Amino acid sequence: MRAAVYHGARDIRIQNPPMPVPGPGELLLEVRSSGICGTDALEWDGGPILTPLDQRHPVSGHQGPIILGHEFGGRVVDLGPAVDGFATGDLVACVAGISCGACEACRAGTSNFCDRYFTLGIDAHGGLARYVVAASAACLEVGRLGLDDDGAALVQPMSVALHALRQGRLRPGDTAVVLGVGGVGAFLAYAAAQLGADVLAVDLDPARLAVAEALGVSAALRADPGASPAPGVLGHVGSAVSVVYEVTGAPAALAAALDMVRPRGRVVQVGLGADPVSIDMRRITLREIRLVGTRAQVFEADFADAASLIASRPEGWSDVAPIALPLDQLVSDGLLPMAKGRPERIKTLIDPWATAIRPASGARAGSIDRSSHRPLERVIAE
Ligand SMILES: [Zn+2]
Ligand SMILES: [Zn+2]
Repeated sequence: MRAAVYHGARDIRIQNPPMPVPGPGELLLEVRSSGICGTDALEWDGGPILTPLDQRHPVSGHQGPIILGHEFGGRVVDLGPAVDGFATGDLVACVAGISCGACEACRAGTSNFCDRYFTLGIDAHGGLARYVVAASAACLEVGRLGLDDDGAALVQPMSVALHALRQGRLRPGDTAVVLGVGGVGAFLAYAAAQLGADVLAVDLDPARLAVAEALGVSAALRADPGASPAPGVLGHVGSAVSVVYEVTGAPAALAAALDMVRPRGRVVQVGLGADPVSIDMRRITLREIRLVGTRAQVFEADFADAASLIASRPEGWSDVAPIALPLDQLVSDGLLPMAKGRPERIKTLIDPWATAIRPASGARAGSIDRSSHRPLERVIAE
């Protein structure tokens, strides 16, 4: 089968590794769409950072060249022994993060801190391939929501955004600012707007701000590369902000977030830069600001809701994810522009079966069965 195999910095080869075989509790998926994000770009550009190329991963057991791809869905084509609740032909989205279900963290509902956590596409073979094996406990059937292949690939990044959204304890009617309309920021802005918050999106790029407006934000503010967006945000909102989601990872953006959040408000640091950041602790202590982190998602809490959110947009997601690239163009049109900080689109999808760029479909309007949706307010609120 064809797959994008990571061998080290700037070395991804399109190769033909053997078909994977599903073990107990696992599904074999045929992948038609697989997303990439900054994690992949960083690994390709400057890795190995996360992947176990040189030493065996203590849980997954993987060592050596690895198939990337942690944002994927696929059709079930085979089932390993002891799989319940799935059938051949099902369209599933995969969370990629694999947890044991038995340790203290898992039992406490925080499987993202599982003792035996590992991620497909980072610590074990992932979905930038025609076929992937995934634990059925990490998969959700999404065909019943009306999602198609490209929509299924968007559920994992939406779940990351939704988990981050929840760390802000945002409520309907609150004012939220999203700094950075990238792959996670766009989904976060959409989810916050669906919750009924008043969302202000900030980015350097007018094209991304136009997408943010289409995603339902109340206002889109263009930031100036050399200056803090805080005065502009405060001028626009008229008072300080309940929750700021900092999705850029730029050191100056965190300082700006602390300047615009109200006393006792929350700043959720979603974006990650490589270097430590210096912050004025007086700002946090004397205004009782909550500065909180967020890590991946919790499958049980976030994943079905994320799928509902992807299914809830009648016009689909072709503005966020307009095309799917063939594997041959993964580096040239996907990872390279992203590593240079100049991605052409908010979310890039890869179709391991395509021989040329094809338009992405997203979740098509009209194909969605709305009767199976839960009301979004209940879906999002803690
Ligand atoms: Zn990702
Ligand atoms: Zn566990």
